[in-house]
Amino acid sequence: MPRRTKIVATLGPATDTDRALDDLIAAGTDLVRVNFSHGVFGDHARRIEQVRAAAARAGRVVGILGDLRGPKVRIERFAAGNAMLVEGAAFALDPAFDPAGGTDRVVGVAYESLPKDVSPGDTLLLNDGLISLEVLRVEGTRVHTRVLSGGELGDMKGLNKLGGGLSARALTHKDREDIRMAAELGVDYLAVSFVRNADDVREAWELMRAAGGEGRIVAKIERREAIENLRAIVESSAAVMVARGDLGVEVGYAELTGLQKHIIRLARTHNRLVITATQMMESMIHAPVPTRAEVSDVANAVMDDTDAVMLSAETAIGRHPGRVVRAMAQVIVGAEKWQKSNRPDMQRGDGYLKHTDEAIAAAVMYTANHLDVKAIVALTESGSTALWMSRIRSDIPIYAFTRHAATQRRVTLYRGVYPVAFDVTHTQAERLYSAIFERVLGEGLAAEGDLIIVTKGELSGVSGGTNSMKIIKVQRVPA
Ligand code: PGA
Ligand code: MN
Repeated sequence: MPRRTKIVATLGPATDTDRALDDLIAAGTDLVRVNFSHGVFGDHARRIEQVRAAAARAGRVVGILGDLRGPKVRIERFAAGNAMLVEGAAFALDPAFDPAGGTDRVVGVAYESLPKDVSPGDTLLLNDGLISLEVLRVEGTRVHTRVLSGGELGDMKGLNKLGGGLSARALTHKDREDIRMAAELGVDYLAVSFVRNADDVREAWELMRAAGGEGRIVAKIERREAIENLRAIVESSAAVMVARGDLGVEVGYAELTGLQKHIIRLARTHNRLVITATQMMESMIHAPVPTRAEVSDVANAVMDDTDAVMLSAETAIGRHPGRVVRAMAQVIVGAEKWQKSNRPDMQRGDGYLKHTDEAIAAAVMYTANHLDVKAIVALTESGSTALWMSRIRSDIPIYAFTRHAATQRRVTLYRGVYPVAFDVTHTQAERLYSAIFERVLGEGLAAEGDLIIVTKGELSGVSGGTNSMKIIKVQRVPA
C-alpha cells in the first residue's frame, strides 16, 4: 500500500543544487513550498523552474505551494550586534525609533500601530516566544515594558501579542504584488499568512483570479482571531494550514495540540484539505535522526487525519534535507499501519450530500471499505470527485486519472490520492475499460483478477459530471 499522508518540503539554500532537489524528490516529497518571505521574483522563478525540471527527470508529479509573507510584525535592527535582555530589566519598543539604532534599552518596530494595540498588563513575545515582555505603560509612540523572560535578541525577530490582537491586515502591499507573481509562476496552492477572517481569504482568491492564476488558496491558521472565525475561514478556503509556529505564540502552546485536532476535523468535515506545519522534525536541521517526541508528533498528525505534514527549516536550511524527508515518510507509513481503518467511519459534516458526484464518492468509499477492492480509479477533470473520496477515511488507494497537468499537481496534496495521466477524450467509449486496465496493470496499481472501482461521468471531459460507479475485475485485454 502506498503512503497516504503527503509531505510538503520547504525550499531554501540547502535544496538549491539539482543534486539536493533530485534527492528531495526521490525521498518522497509530494509538494514543495516556496517561501515568499525571503528572496525576489528571480529567486522564486529559478527554484520553481528547477523543481519542474527535477520532477520531470524523476517522472514524478510535484505540486507547488507559494507562501506569502503576510503582516508579520518584527522589531528593527540593533546598532551593535545582538542585545541581551535581562529578566526584570526595562525595555522599550518604539515604531518611531531609529530602525538601525537598537540598544539593550530600546529598539524600533516595523509596526506603527503598536502603541495603540497594546495596554498595560499585556504580554509581548519576541522570537517565537523565547523572550517575553510585560507592557507597563505607553507614552506617545513608545511602549515601555519589563522583561519577564530574557535572552539574546537579534535583528528583525518576530513580535506577537499573547492572546492576539496586533491588528495588521492580512494582505500587505507586498503580498498583493506577490499574488500576481504567484499567478505568473503558476503555483498550484497559495498560502495566506496571518488570516483574520473569511474576507481576507476571499480577497486573496479574487486577486489570484484577477491575475489569471489557478492557484488554490490555503489559509494559515496562526492568529487568535482566526480561531474565532475558524468555520467561515475553512469554508472560504481550499485548504488550511495548522501553522503551529505563530499559533503557538499567539494562543500559548498549551492548547496547540487540541486546536490541531479540532482544525483538522473541521477542515475534513467541510471537504477541505489540511496541512500540519512547523517544528515537526526540528532537531533534524542538524541531527541525523529525529527525537522520539518528533516521531510521535508526526505520527499523531497522521492519526489525526491530516492531508500533509510540512517541513520548514529542516529542508530549507537543514544539513540533510533528503534524509529528513525519508525519515518522515517512514514515520508516516509506520503510523498508517497502526491506523488501519476498515471501519464504516464516514466522517461527513452533516451527513447530507449536496451533489451527485459527492454522493457517488460517498457510495464508492462505503463500498471500498466493505468489499475487497484493490484500488479506486476516479476519472476526473478538476479532481473534485477524488477530493470528496479522500475526506472519508480508508486504506484503499484512490487514483485520479486525469489529462490535466494542473489537476495532477493539485491532487498531490490530497491524502490517499495519486495522480495518473490519462486522457479520456482520446479514448473511444468501447475501449475505455481496456485502456484503464492497461494503465492499471502497466503501473502495477492492481493485478489481473483484482476488483477495482471506476467512477466516471456520462460525458467524460466535463467537470463535475461524475454520476456512476462500476465495480469491475481487472482483465488483461488482448491488443
Ligand atoms: P511560517 O508559517 O513558517 O511562515 O511562519 C508557519 C507557522 O507559523 O507555523
Ligand atoms: Mn507563521
